[in-house]
Amino acid sequence: MPEYRADVLVVGAGPTGLAAAAELALAGVGAVVIDALPGRSGQSKALALQPRSAELLDARGWLEPLRPHVHARLPKGHFAGLPLDYAALETRFPHQIAVEQARIEEVLEERVAAAGSPVRWSHACTAVRQDDDEVTVAVETPTGPIEFTARYLVAADGAHSAVRRALGVPFPGRAARMRMAVADIVLARRPPGLADEWAPPEFGGGGFGYLLPLGGGVHRVLFGGEEQQSLDRSEPVTAAEVQRALEAVHGDGVEVGEVRWGSRFSDASRQVERYRHGRVLFAGDAAHLHLPAGGQGLNLGLQDAFNLGWKLASVVRGRAWTSLLDTYHDERHPVAARVLVNTRAQGVLTVPDPDLLAVREVLGDLLADPAANRRVAGEISGIDVRYPGADPLQGRRLPDDLAEQARASLLAARPVLIGPEVLREIAEPWGDRVDFASASATGILVRPDAYIGWAASGPHDIDGLTGALAHWLGAPVPHSTLR
Ligand SMILES: Cc1cc2nc3c(=O)[nH]c(=O)nc-3n(C[C@H](O)[C@H](O)[C@H](O)COP(=O)(O)OP(=O)(O)OC[C@H]3O[C@@H](n4cnc5c(N)ncnc54)[C@H](O)[C@@H]3O)c2cc1C
Repeated sequence: MPEYRADVLVVGAGPTGLAAAAELALAGVGAVVIDALPGRSGQSKALALQPRSAELLDARGWLEPLRPHVHARLPKGHFAGLPLDYAALETRFPHQIAVEQARIEEVLEERVAAAGSPVRWSHACTAVRQDDDEVTVAVETPTGPIEFTARYLVAADGAHSAVRRALGVPFPGRAARMRMAVADIVLARRPPGLADEWAPPEFGGGGFGYLLPLGGGVHRVLFGGEEQQSLDRSEPVTAAEVQRALEAVHGDGVEVGEVRWGSRFSDASRQVERYRHGRVLFAGDAAHLHLPAGGQGLNLGLQDAFNLGWKLASVVRGRAWTSLLDTYHDERHPVAARVLVNTRAQGVLTVPDPDLLAVREVLGDLLADPAANRRVAGEISGIDVRYPGADPLQGRRLPDDLAEQARASLLAARPVLIGPEVLREIAEPWGDRVDFASASATGILVRPDAYIGWAASGPHDIDGLTGALAHWLGAPVPHSTLR
């Protein structure tokens, strides 16, 4: 059987796997990406980027190529359809960016291909084994089975992860209680009063049905009524089924012309207990699964990849200690755990109940309060993600007012120390792997994923800086020169 070697094997060319591979490439580590599909389907489950993902893609210069595909800036997010005003967020992107998942994947795939290792489609992972030194993956290809051996494996193969199953990694949580369908349709007759803008969900008829205009006469419909509960995941979504679902909500003034694409999903809510299993790192839907409420899944996966990529690259290049990989779990697991909580809560707010509208009215009133809106918007948008940290700033995202000083470094996915000249001397032994930007501001160490790795408490404070540099960047190298 043919055998291949790679530093890192990424299983799954969805947004998470592609972002992880693009990050690794930027940090000088070649990853091989495989995917079971024969090629990109061109279909999009997710339709929008949350503000924190927009900040991260922008930091790498990857938002720019998406601009021609952006349908709209959506000033509001939502919690179970109740509007959240993103104007309250302290970010240069106080809105969602309406752009299809397929376009995001295309841009990331281009980065991966440009690094010299295009995605290997029609490569399905069928078995995985690992020892202390390497991980070996059996792969089924159109020309027969092959074997890949890698130092690390990123399991980004989605909700039904073959890697998870092959390693016997449990996926604990709650099984599906609601089954739903999604379809992109052309309407032969529009229901009266249908908005041409992003509309909140409407409730009625024992189910729910969102109708979102995608442009070009196509609407995205999401629905989940009684009929969907008994249908298997593999059943195709038919025009007659969509018609019945829309009539339940909009009455008989609506007529479905054509179903362009359809798929089924559920409110199952699960998360792996540890994101790292030896040399295997779980990310995206392979690590966490939840109701796609509020538009968070793709964004979580992207942010997993931005957290993992630079750490894995540092370890593979022998610069950082392998324990750095454990911080990926420590930082990202609680973030997804919290999303599982908010999506389960959102699920309850869509379950048919005679008093559902009353509960929604009360919650809607509460969310109209600026403090409540800011709190929930901060969570759903990813802007308030905060990793564990020793001081008030450590673990927070880089604020916009320092983004310009960090820009050149973040474009290259390099950490940067910003502050007075004295910090440059202290960081000298890490000069091969951290940039320096002189500023009168008090010192701050910005990680490659635009989170703060260390912050001075005042203008002359250097406490903890060398410890933080060693923690994030590995052992110091004497006599190097800062760029
Ligand atoms: C209806 C719906 C609407 C959604 N809307 C939003 C939204 O608005 N915003 C948002 O943020 N998220 C949304 N999501 C969630 C989002 O689409 C997912 O979270 C996202 O696709 C996860 O990306 P991923 O790369 O982790 O996994 P996936 O996108 O599932 O990619 C996994 C890849 O792995 C491949 N693979 C699987 N098995 C193997 C194997 N054995 N070998 C090799 N490759 C394999 C698959 O072919 C696939 O390409 C929505 C989801 C649904 C169902």
